[in-house]
Amino acid sequence: MSKKYLYKFHEGDKEMKSLLGGKGANLAEMTKIGLPVPPGVIISTQACKDYYRDGQKLPEGLKDQILEHIAYLESVTGKGFGDSKNPLLVSVRSGAAVSMPGMMDTILNLGLNDETVKGLARITNDERFAFDCYRRFITMYSDVVMGIEHVAFESILRTYKKKLEIEHDHELTPDDLKMIIQEFKSMLRIKHGSEFPQDPKEQLINAVEAVFKSWQNSRAILYRKLHKIPDSLGTAVNIQSMVFGNMGVKSGTGVAFTRNPSTGVKELYGEYLVNAQGEDVVAGIRTPQPIEKLKEEMPDAYKQFIDTSKLLEKHYKDMQDIEFTIENSKLYILQTRNGKKTAAAAIRIAVDLVREGLITKEEAVGRIDITQLDQLLHPTIDITTNYEVIARGLPASPGAAVGEIVFDADEAESMGKEGINVILVRNETTPDDLNGIVGAQGILTSRGGMTSHAAVVARGMGKPCVCGCDELDIDMEREKLRIGNKIFSRGDIITIDGSTGNVIEGEVPLLVPTLSKEFQTILEWADEIRTLGVRANADNPEDAAKAREFGAKGIGLCRTEHMFMGPERLPIVQKMILSSNDDERKAALEKLLPIQQEDFYGILKAMQGYPVTIRLLDPPLHEFLPNREELIEEIVKLRCLGGSEEELREKEALFAKVKALSESNPMLGHRGCRLGITFPEIYATQVEAVFRAAVQLAKEGVKTVPEIEIPLVMDVNELSTLKEVVDQVAVSVFAEEGVSVEYTVGTMIEVPRACATAGEIAQIADFFSFGTNDLTQTCFGFSRDDAEGKFLHSYLEKKIINENPFVVLDRAGVGRLMEMAVTKGRASREDLLIGICGEHGGDPSSIEYCYQIGLDFVSCSPYRVPVARLAAAQAALRHSN
Ligand code: ADP
Ligand code: MG
Ligand code: MG
Repeated sequence: MSKKYLYKFHEGDKEMKSLLGGKGANLAEMTKIGLPVPPGVIISTQACKDYYRDGQKLPEGLKDQILEHIAYLESVTGKGFGDSKNPLLVSVRSGAAVSMPGMMDTILNLGLNDETVKGLARITNDERFAFDCYRRFITMYSDVVMGIEHVAFESILRTYKKKLEIEHDHELTPDDLKMIIQEFKSMLRIKHGSEFPQDPKEQLINAVEAVFKSWQNSRAILYRKLHKIPDSLGTAVNIQSMVFGNMGVKSGTGVAFTRNPSTGVKELYGEYLVNAQGEDVVAGIRTPQPIEKLKEEMPDAYKQFIDTSKLLEKHYKDMQDIEFTIENSKLYILQTRNGKKTAAAAIRIAVDLVREGLITKEEAVGRIDITQLDQLLHPTIDITTNYEVIARGLPASPGAAVGEIVFDADEAESMGKEGINVILVRNETTPDDLNGIVGAQGILTSRGGMTSHAAVVARGMGKPCVCGCDELDIDMEREKLRIGNKIFSRGDIITIDGSTGNVIEGEVPLLVPTLSKEFQTILEWADEIRTLGVRANADNPEDAAKAREFGAKGIGLCRTEHMFMGPERLPIVQKMILSSNDDERKAALEKLLPIQQEDFYGILKAMQGYPVTIRLLDPPLHEFLPNREELIEEIVKLRCLGGSEEELREKEALFAKVKALSESNPMLGHRGCRLGITFPEIYATQVEAVFRAAVQLAKEGVKTVPEIEIPLVMDVNELSTLKEVVDQVAVSVFAEEGVSVEYTVGTMIEVPRACATAGEIAQIADFFSFGTNDLTQTCFGFSRDDAEGKFLHSYLEKKIINENPFVVLDRAGVGRLMEMAVTKGRASREDLLIGICGEHGGDPSSIEYCYQIGLDFVSCSPYRVPVARLAAAQAALRHSN
């Protein structure tokens, strides 16, 4: 006994997709629920797998089973395969478990030959129809099975029509068609060296084998690679008796969605062609008519279709994409599947289906495709318009922007204030350019990777950014930008797309994002389901407000280095760094205090009683000093051209400091809490500003929850030393003000040693927050910019690693360190609050992992908050039962 390879439609159902393919399983399901599906049988994916296992040979017994099942189709249809009196015709359709464009085209009307075509003509009393079917069949079969391309046949058809001065296919008479078929056959004889096969059984077996073969054609292989579909799945083959949409004006064929796939509105959306067969709709030979027209042209069939589409939607509980054919006013359904839709439509449909009582809130939340949501959270390029990409860089911060090219940050700022849209174009940006980044719609740089200053700042602000676009040749002095042989000047319009890295000449229309009512609803449902908290990373009151608007319940990372920058502050900070003794340093810091207090006041107030994790100064001090090369240049100029003695001395002192502070490996250098250990007054000033702001708010009746975070801790002794500084400041501020505020002190976990000694650290720390950007760098032992710029690409290509660990949290390495820290930390302190604030906090797969290892919250950029809320809910749904 050979394996069972074939299934009749009524033997299967929609759960059998992996065995019967998506198309087959759904045809079986529709048969089961009594819909008008032409009878058919399915060859399972197992047969395809065995075909390849056996070195591309039809597996044993398959042929016999196919013939047995043809006999079954003959008996249910009352027709005979190859019977010239009443011929059975079938379609042969491929269908893998997942929808896979690129495989073999469907063959219709199989079973026709020189004799059966006459029978078909007699029985339908329509010679034109019969020969039309035959010429279609010859074309499709020759193309798919014999490898003779469509165009060869089309050119014969075209020449013939031209000769007769005919425009449309349906104007061809039966005799014309017979002539054309003769020409087809002789062309085949020449090109293929054989006759068109006349034996229907031979036709069928060859067609089945062609489907199997198409599983490994290059288009299919590429598609699977792009969509990560395993090669081992195999395809099923559907053999289905034909129904005819080309039988006259009471026949037709069409495709319809049960709802609008781009907006989600509940309305039938589709089109059809009268007197046509399946492939005509796709081929675009004639313009199809909107489905509403069917109501007038064939009211009965229309009503059948409406009833059926409602039933199918109820049954599948999702928008359906339906293929149908009408044969002499009778409706047949040939395919249904959950339709592809835009993110906006997916959300609207999910909410509507809950309201209609078809699905639960959990199902609605669970089925939103999070990777699609980017479409809704940033302006996107209207892809229906024509545009030309002139350069490509790194997609550093998603969203698209249009504006005038501006090279100078101050100019970008002032033009931005006037409401002019500008794109700031630079080789790279520095903290000095911050005002320009704020003023611009988007940032384009020729250098720098995914963590360059421009990229990080832009992502934080949710501003589109394209980085490292080395095709740009920027002449800052003359304010010109050259790309290839095109030259752009200041003021010329360009469009950048930070989601793809594309740079486009001129203006491309943008689609503006909004959090629709339905999106809000889905997010509220997600909040009911999730247990993982969602906070945002925000460094200023505006971002904090945005975070609240998007539903963040607190700030998981408030970086304070920005509070040391800007034209007013930087000179004070530089003075502080240059000071030769503690008193000078303290004097400078005192000037910073009120300014920073104001910053903290704004942020804490915006969060209205939700916690705010404030990370004390992290970057190395040289980042606040001018660039070394620039300084040298200035000093040389001053020396050679003569200039003020005082200025020269100032620059020389600065240069000496820059030299003294320079490090061979800044990422592993004098930064983070190491800075706090050597210059405790810097941290003391920062926490004083925090506590004064909190006290001020307390007096105004506003509750605050400041969480003081010490960065880059590797040992408990660092933390205890610095916690003492924090506590002392608290005691003195609270005593002075007569008001005290609750606060906690914790640490960012971002080096492996902190994970290994988490038990000890947790004895002092109130909370841990995983800084997974640095933890990934320190765990892997490579810097992100070097990795992404130089070798990560090869690693991914050679499958040494499967994902970029800076985008998707590396569970095997970084994840294991995190787990260790969670276990050890909670063992020594049960109520230890644990979160994540690296960029991974906004990545769905990483969020799922954080949920699994028991974190309390994730924190991400304000614009990722909706994504995180949904991802946290989906993680809970996936793992809770
Ligand atoms: P695809 O996956 O490319 O949509 P299908 O197998 O669904 O390929 O078929 C292509 C076209 O042929 C569709 O319009 C379909 O409705 C039509 N078709 C397939 N089988 C039959 C059949 N038995 N009778 C009539 N039309 C059919
Ligand atoms: Mg189809
Ligand atoms: Mg860090």
